[in-house]
Amino acid sequence: MNAQHTTGRLAPSPTGYLHLGNAWSFLLAWLSARLDGGTVFLRMEDIDPARSKTEFIDAALEDFAWLGINYDGEMVCQSKRTAIYEEYAAKLSAFTYPCYCTRKELREMAGAPQTSRPGSRFVMPDMGAAYHRTCRFLTAEEQARRQKQSACLRLACPPFAPRERHTVPEEFFGISADFAFTDSVLGKQTFNLNDCGGDFALRRSDKVRAYQLAVSVDDMLMGITEVVRGNDILTSTPRQLYLFRLFGHTPPNYAHIPLLLDAADERLAKRHASLSLKALRRKDSSPAPVLQYLAGFLGLHGEFANAADILQYMQDNIKTIWENDGQNSERDKKQDKEQDKEPGTAKAYLMHKLAKLGNTVSTDF
Ligand SMILES: [Zn+2]
Repeated sequence: MNAQHTTGRLAPSPTGYLHLGNAWSFLLAWLSARLDGGTVFLRMEDIDPARSKTEFIDAALEDFAWLGINYDGEMVCQSKRTAIYEEYAAKLSAFTYPCYCTRKELREMAGAPQTSRPGSRFVMPDMGAAYHRTCRFLTAEEQARRQKQSACLRLACPPFAPRERHTVPEEFFGISADFAFTDSVLGKQTFNLNDCGGDFALRRSDKVRAYQLAVSVDDMLMGITEVVRGNDILTSTPRQLYLFRLFGHTPPNYAHIPLLLDAADERLAKRHASLSLKALRRKDSSPAPVLQYLAGFLGLHGEFANAADILQYMQDNIKTIWENDGQNSERDKKQDKEQDKEPGTAKAYLMHKLAKLGNTVSTDF
């Protein structure tokens, strides 16, 4: 249905060694774009100088090479793009304000963090109560008085107050805080920005650009049309859609994939040292066991010595793969239809299978 050329991205954060869960995400992002004959860019999300390390960048590049996850063009590093993010933050000056709240104040005002939205199927670990907007409505005197204090730069989210009518451009004044999109895995999604933390930071008080701005600007400038990532960052999507709206740019399509959990249903993290790709590379010079294990979750069983083998296998055998995937409930069929998936294609199979896996996948690798 989509005549547009697919451009996807691999976007690791070099703040630790990549693990099996990252391999799962990046393999899916890569497969999804390559099944469309699309482009895949590599973007190193090394924006936080305190946490990013060159050794982790080097290890990630070795991991990708080992798995056979290739990319097009030159690697893009966020750490070298701060001037660009600053330029884009400046374009939003009608919507931004300095927030002087300390971390302690924010914590106290947010109360206990909610682990998930009522009625939501997803864990949203970063969601406390929405920012209370105190600093959005400081008087000019108050702002002048606090000017020397360190501040983060926050983005005002709708709804806008009557007193903001003279600063917020007319075309945005009445917009809704609800953002809807059709996720390629999860189907129709609607989030209110104020359920996702409300006014969010574009620049932290230590001057580091915050995640939402950098990601949105890069996705825009790199021409990304498809974002495949873990469903733990689902609530970032409405915030990024809001940024796209303010910049007047069409957002990419999103596919939020199930998270890989360990045998005790904990998220894979740095403490799972034995599941780091670096450790797995040392243990076995071939990535075949890892790839075969991950492909197994997709119902794909074969000899896969690199990522390209999985791609090729899907392209060559897709008719049989669909036929073998016999136990589709009426709900699956309805969901496929709703999401306008072309039945029978390898890409549709990938999204269909991911939807069937549910929110998480437990691993005993
Ligand atoms: Zn504040």
